[in-house]
Amino acid sequence: MSVPVRDNRYPHRHLLGIDGLSADEIGYLLDVSDSYVDLNRKVDKKQTGLRGQTLINLFFENSTRTRTSFELAGKRLGSDVINMSVAASAIKKGETLLDTAMTLNAMHPDVLVVRHPESGAVKLLSEKVECAVINAGDGSHEHPTQALLDALTIRRRRGRLDGLVVAICGDILHSRVARSNIHLLNVMGARVRLVAPPTLLPTAAVRLGAEVFNDMRAGLADCDIVMMLRLQTERMQGRFVPSTREYYRFYGLDSEKLALARPDALIMHPGPMNRGVEIDSQLADDITRSVILDQVELGVAVRMACLEVLSGNRRRRSIESAVA
Ligand code: ASP
Repeated sequence: MSVPVRDNRYPHRHLLGIDGLSADEIGYLLDVSDSYVDLNRKVDKKQTGLRGQTLINLFFENSTRTRTSFELAGKRLGSDVINMSVAASAIKKGETLLDTAMTLNAMHPDVLVVRHPESGAVKLLSEKVECAVINAGDGSHEHPTQALLDALTIRRRRGRLDGLVVAICGDILHSRVARSNIHLLNVMGARVRLVAPPTLLPTAAVRLGAEVFNDMRAGLADCDIVMMLRLQTERMQGRFVPSTREYYRFYGLDSEKLALARPDALIMHPGPMNRGVEIDSQLADDITRSVILDQVELGVAVRMACLEVLSGNRRRRSIESAVA
């Protein structure tokens, strides 16, 4: 089966971030993602719409779920997928990011999926290559496909995003997941709360378009969605919390704090989780409240949608330039 022909409501060459996208563009990517969910539950998942295309996963930072998710998405659409891990790459030999980009560009990939520890690195790379680029996380800047899969998870469970109260809790300062989600949820009409100790909030947190809470109990009161974040110690220089035990006491999600949210509030976490640090282990596994595995499942559908849409745009551009 080939990729369906749809109206083109996401006209961009790349997906570098959520910031700057319109509600219609986001809604379109979510609609296309939705159309892949059932396919992913079938035994025979193989499509051929991206046959002949090459996707390179270029990861300068560790990843399990995001890299696997993009790999599955590419393969299910019929694309060839190459994984380049940082340990095996020329970066270790001193090659610069842009040298790597130019080298890969010369091999004519169709899509580069890039994760990099520096904010802005993926955009820089996208300016030097001819293929489509998807940001799979750049520093503490953006992780757009994570925000899309979070939105799809919420939309499928609640039927909407607008008007919902979403509490994003934990290490917001270092979180690209939080940044992408704040942009997306604001554009889609949700009400965002940021819940964190002052040391884990950006200085201009209120300017992000969210209500800020340092007290988790107040921040969770009557919210519809509790989105927990990992303490990202790999991005911390120095100590940001006195101890993980103390952090759990004040900011870890346990059933007592969750009781302040709406009775049907959903628990989310982008993974990987630090059980017993930001979330109680039993709550994380409680399928009546936690949608953490739905997030992982829907991530594949979202990445298939992004690949379909960007590849379609690329094809359209090459036809237009051939005709011109
Ligand atoms: N997996 C997410 C990311 O890459 C969240 C995390 O690592 O805590 O940003």
